[in-house]
Amino acid sequence: MSDPIIKFDKVVKRFGDLTVLDALDFEVMRGEKVSIIGPSGSGKSTVLRILMTLEGIDGGLVTVGGEPLWHEPGPDGLRPASEAHLRKMRAQLGMVFQQFNLFPHMTVLRNITEAPVKVLGLSKADAKLRAEELLERVGLADQAQKYPHQLSGGQQQRVGIARALAMRPSILLFDEPTSALDPELVGEVLNVIGQLAEEHDLTMLLVTHEMRFAREISDRVCFFDQGQIREEGTPEELFSDPNEDRTREFLKAVL
Ligand code: ADP
Ligand code: MG
Repeated sequence: MSDPIIKFDKVVKRFGDLTVLDALDFEVMRGEKVSIIGPSGSGKSTVLRILMTLEGIDGGLVTVGGEPLWHEPGPDGLRPASEAHLRKMRAQLGMVFQQFNLFPHMTVLRNITEAPVKVLGLSKADAKLRAEELLERVGLADQAQKYPHQLSGGQQQRVGIARALAMRPSILLFDEPTSALDPELVGEVLNVIGQLAEEHDLTMLLVTHEMRFAREISDRVCFFDQGQIREEGTPEELFSDPNEDRTREFLKAVL
């Protein structure tokens, strides 16, 4: 686990007058499982959205797998990334959203096969095989022909996870994947994420309010505050013995 697969180097992100990320330095090692915790508005989702190429950056450099994400080599050094470069880089990442973001007019199966067919050029038959295997894995083998609205929130989110995995990403991003769920449905989704966390090669970046779960599955926990990492460490260090008052205050409020 010695080379960073994700690197933010003095990354600046603004929305108008609001500076959301203020020269953020952040690294994730290949295969590492990192949880991001922190107050609402601290920039957690923005970090994931930048990696997913859903938001651009205003300064600094982001690299994924050693290559610049938002830039590409040009004749006079780095220049802004082309759409083709972004597409290539994006293929390394999958994201699971708080609100599931499934396509409502498509069956569960089609939700999972759509991108592998359209983006990776898989045959429909191969995409279907891959989807069925993934549905099996998330415990939804019998739901392939249903539409999202016919499923519970927990089932929909498990489809969301299967959909992200169908692209075989090396990095999986989760943005509060259980926050929109009724409490009794949280466990089934955390179980699936917990199983994924056992995969040695998969890099995981998880924004969550589930502190006990973060503690269980993470190699490292980062406490975000005002667009900066205020404190980071092993779950043991961060949860049991935080150094910063701000971390302690936050944990006291959420635990
Ligand atoms: P978190 O996920 O930690 O709650 P976000 O990354 O979503 O925080 O947002 C960080 C800050 O940026 C918040 O103040 C939010 O209101 C603001 N923000 C996020 N997205 C936008 C946007 N598209 N336009 C304007 N402000 C935004
Ligand atoms: Mg957020």
